[in-house]
Amino acid sequence: MEAKRMSQITISPGHYGPGTAARDLIDEGTETRKVVDRVVELLKNEKIAVNKVVDTQSTSQSQNLNYLVSAHNRTQRKLDVSIHFNSSGERTTKGLGTEVLYVNENLKDFASKVSKAISVASGLKNRGRKKRTELFFLNNTEEPAILIEVCFVNSTVDVNLYHTQFEKICRAIADELIRFVKPNYEPKPAKSPQQNVSDGGNYSLPQIHKSGGVVGGFTSPSLVSRLEAILQNEKLLQDILQKGVDEKVFMASWLDKLKAGTLTTSDLLGLCALIVEKELSGT
Ligand SMILES: [Zn+2]
Repeated sequence: MEAKRMSQITISPGHYGPGTAARDLIDEGTETRKVVDRVVELLKNEKIAVNKVVDTQSTSQSQNLNYLVSAHNRTQRKLDVSIHFNSSGERTTKGLGTEVLYVNENLKDFASKVSKAISVASGLKNRGRKKRTELFFLNNTEEPAILIEVCFVNSTVDVNLYHTQFEKICRAIADELIRFVKPNYEPKPAKSPQQNVSDGGNYSLPQIHKSGGVVGGFTSPSLVSRLEAILQNEKLLQDILQKGVDEKVFMASWLDKLKAGTLTTSDLLGLCALIVEKELSGT
């Protein structure tokens, strides 16, 4: 006779669909569903029993909160998770970051871990854990609960990182949720640098966003790992671009691009070629 397998995690996107929550560069009600869908897939791949709750019927925020909490409380699980995106109002080019909300003191350290894992994986600023005593979801779900604010919908840096690092963010969330229910879980090793680069250069660096094309096609893994080390060294990247600006090889606006997170790996390759060309020409 097969033993009944207890579900371990119940997860839901906050709100009740497109246009029902924070909106600016992206729509919270749309993106929360994408994150939940991917995290659920990753959990299932690791044989974690997971319940997904999606509210497709509410027409107001209070209906929605009641719907989500009662649907969570009807499931068997050890952990309740709610996915949200944040907003601070006016659009900004500053990176604002990721944070994880909790109310149950036992979840303090776990909330910190999840926030840090998302930050390390994606380059989003780590705002850390935040204790919130007034949130309906946290106060009324009957199992330990966290609410993840993935990033800010009104920050160009955050949204850029969210788009380019989506998979890494979802993996970081899934890995930490699995560790909560299976403390000795070891995630599968990440892909080798060579595979990463041929995927389109998916670097977890805030100042460089992925670019297709040129970054693929490397024939030497050691070259790729040396390049990755450079791409992860923020100070070095700034120094390289500063050298080009100081020597009047290109304009200072390239440094602004680096800071804004819109410089691509292909841009960097081109700029480095210009610097070397200038050196060789001896002018
Ligand atoms: Zn929300």
